[in-house]
Amino acid sequence: MACKGICIRHKAQKPVGSGRYAAGQKRCQVCEIFLNWIGLWCPCCGYRLRGTPRNFKYKNRLREQKMMKDDKKDTHQVLVRVNNS
Ligand SMILES: [Zn+2]
Ligand SMILES: [Zn+2]
Repeated sequence: MACKGICIRHKAQKPVGSGRYAAGQKRCQVCEIFLNWIGLWCPCCGYRLRGTPRNFKYKNRLREQKMMKDDKKDTHQVLVRVNNS
């Protein structure tokens, strides 16, 4: 696996106002270049490309669920306090 110079043809320009991965660009660690490439593998060296982390959305959803749970707990505590007084 080595750079053959093919990646230059798919070289991605730096996007304005958004991250590289957000713009759908992928990085090849072998060619040390950002590519406009749909596939998961570098068209040049065949190495696995780095894109948006697969669990990125999943992590965000987990955090939202946790926040919602915390909100409910707070509401419950407030209700109990009101009932006792
Ligand atoms: Zn290359
Ligand atoms: Zn490559």
